Amino acid sequence: TEELMRRSDTLSVVGQLAAGIAHEIRNPLTTLRGLLQLLLADETTKSKAPYYEVMLSELDRINFIVGELMMLVKPRALSFEQQDVRVILQKVVFLLKAQANLHNVDLRMEFDEQMPLVTCEESKLKQVFINVLKNAIEAMPHGGEIVIGVQMLGEDEVRVTVQDHGVGIPEIQLSKIGQPFHTTKESGTGLGLTVSWKIIEDHRGTFRIHSREGVGTTVEITLPVLQTAQDVAL
Ligand code: ADP
Ligand code: MG
Repeated sequence: TEELMRRSDTLSVVGQLAAGIAHEIRNPLTTLRGLLQLLLADETTKSKAPYYEVMLSELDRINFIVGELMMLVKPRALSFEQQDVRVILQKVVFLLKAQANLHNVDLRMEFDEQMPLVTCEESKLKQVFINVLKNAIEAMPHGGEIVIGVQMLGEDEVRVTVQDHGVGIPEIQLSKIGQPFHTTKESGTGLGLTVSWKIIEDHRGTFRIHSREGVGTTVEITLPVLQTAQDVAL
């Protein structure tokens, strides 16, 4: 057990280091971003604007990746509230509507009528649902339908499923799913699922992926109804 303890000690030091570095990277990034925006607004350097635009979007990408990394390594107390998962999903679907339309994808919601509130941090669950739905949309290059389900699972669990009929995941790749930086996309980060998994874990829920190449993928998330279940009708 001593070996184990030491190993997890090292891990937390590495985690702290990563969180510290990520934080330190953010400040100079903000400075660079501000200066670039000045250059963009400068009439005398107008011909260079396309370069500045690329630099800005690359900076934003670094910023995004650093944010995801911080999310992974920086332990932070969640501020839990009682929320209706269906309402959170409706907001996310609204956010992604334009992107779905662009890909000829229909987002269909199939929700149970009675649902207890779930103890969660809304912004974190939103992040998970956005990641999972974006993946589903990106997996359907020819469009189609994504079914988002919310059901009660026994008395004290809520299950959210996101089912697509997209390209699916080849069996040899299934074991890599969720590993940081594993991506099959040209401009993917491979952090979406890692972060999502971590968030659901922080909520004491479960995160599973069922997939068949050429058939489609279903992401299944369960969340515990942590406190006194209070039934609400939608
Ligand atoms: P990214 O989207 O940046 O690649 P993710 O962590 O969100 O990173 O996903 C990792 C990989 O898992 C994707 O690159 C893709 O290969 C696979 N994947 C995730 N969701 C799906 C899905 N719904 N259908 C097919 N493949 C998926
Ligand atoms: Mg993704």
